[in-house]
Amino acid sequence: MARGFFSTNSNYNNGSGVSNASTMDFRQYGEEIAHLKGQVARLNMITEGLWTILKNEGHTEEELIDILSELDTNKKTRKAAIESGEETPKRRECPNCHVPLQNTDSIIDRCIYCGHEIIGNPFDN
Ligand SMILES: [Zn+2]
Repeated sequence: MARGFFSTNSNYNNGSGVSNASTMDFRQYGEEIAHLKGQVARLNMITEGLWTILKNEGHTEEELIDILSELDTNKKTRKAAIESGEETPKRRECPNCHVPLQNTDSIIDRCIYCGHEIIGNPFDN
């Protein structure tokens, strides 16, 4: 008996006619990776545009390297302090109802309790 591609490939069909969960997971991960690649490319272009503006205004690559080094050092220092227990991670709270906000990594959050919209620091992570 001849078997088609889908019936011989267990990743696509387990014989029940329904795709198994891992196939769906891989497809979703692939879509998510493609989306993230697009976002990274877009952010690279924005960063390049901003850097071009700054260079045209006289800023140098040495300045950029110095500030990136400083930011990297600060981030590592803070991470080490949190890991050692010397510092606790910042918890944001709703300025309207004072309930702790969930960490969503969004710049704009909406309190799930009162609906108040909060715009955070885009460079906080
Ligand atoms: Zn609130």
